[in-house]
Amino acid sequence: MIEDKLAALAEQGLYRHRRLVDSPCGPRMVVDGRSVLAFASNDYLGFANDQRLIEATVDAVRRWGVGAGASHYLGGHFRPHDDLEHQLAHFLGLDAASLFSTGYMANLAAVTVMVGRGDAVFADRLNHASLIDAVRLSGADSIRYRHGDVAGLENLLANAKASTRLIVTDGVFSMDGDIAPLADLLAVAERHDAWLLVDDAHAFGVLGPKGRGTAALFGLSSPRLLVVGTLGKAAGVAGAFVAGSELASRWLRQKARTSIFTTASPPMLACALIESLRLIEDADDRRQHLTDLIRRFRQAAAPLCASRGWRLPPSETAIQPLIVGDNRECVALADALLARAIWAPAIRPPTVPVGQARLRISLSAAHSVDDVDQLIEALLAIRP
Ligand SMILES: *Cc1c(COP(=O)(O)O)cnc(C)c1O
Repeated sequence: MIEDKLAALAEQGLYRHRRLVDSPCGPRMVVDGRSVLAFASNDYLGFANDQRLIEATVDAVRRWGVGAGASHYLGGHFRPHDDLEHQLAHFLGLDAASLFSTGYMANLAAVTVMVGRGDAVFADRLNHASLIDAVRLSGADSIRYRHGDVAGLENLLANAKASTRLIVTDGVFSMDGDIAPLADLLAVAERHDAWLLVDDAHAFGVLGPKGRGTAALFGLSSPRLLVVGTLGKAAGVAGAFVAGSELASRWLRQKARTSIFTTASPPMLACALIESLRLIEDADDRRQHLTDLIRRFRQAAAPLCASRGWRLPPSETAIQPLIVGDNRECVALADALLARAIWAPAIRPPTVPVGQARLRISLSAAHSVDDVDQLIEALLAIRP
């Protein structure tokens, strides 16, 4: 019975509520009718409500209208889409990039075009849900390796028989904030004739020179490398891309069902993203400020967490997980923060492993030093 299942979710502290937002995305938001300081978005560079992006979008909506009208293959591939694809590829130093409406759809495409029944996917245990679903949909054998365990992965690959092998990993893990050991993963891919797919949702725009992402951070390039990036996080708009070699991209465009059988995203969004890409390249100051905020937060939060019995695992990125453990305790902590007008969402299973419920504190270049200090003060003021 659905009623029983819903009651069970509530019982376990797993019922999900959507908070209602009445303001643009930013450090100050109106949430459920109250003004709060927000640490809940993936708007890492503060572009979601940027005036320059707003102007670019308004100009574009007048020039191109509001809808694409069809899929990319049936008359919906507009010049702004094509320009954006070329600019993304150039920015990433890869042969080609193909647009998708969301990162979820890009991941479904990237995995299902590369592997199918009889092939094997090697996936980090903490990969994003969309990658897990993509592997299921592909019909390939799913072989999961311990989080970040490159030696374990190599063993699994050495014993694998499938002819086509794909290693799949988040670049920055979405709920832990740690960075995948990408150089080692690529070396393993090369030794074992495997493809490597990196989901750079939380790295695109933020990590590496000019925000080119995890591969650029490690200085990697390889024809075996496929990169998925989302454009609704640091880029501040919406959409996603799959980028890689000429050959992989040609194949992707022939076979990607989540692009072929869906309406192209509005061309005005591509115009907004072209402007966003320009801002990303020019945003070294924002990336530096974000790095400073991350350091400041961790310095203050580490002793605080130790005294409260919370865990703050190593994370050099804007995603700072404050692991409470118990679902209900975690929700109580999020509620106590909200009572102090601070919004940091409680993340529970199945988004994270059982027993690892956490506050996912996400920092943005739009935050000030004072915002971070307020968060720390509020955490200090809450007595367990
Ligand atoms: C957010 C996210 C996605 C999905 O991207 P959307 O554009 O939001 O659909 C995929 N992978 C990871 C790691 C993510 O965090």
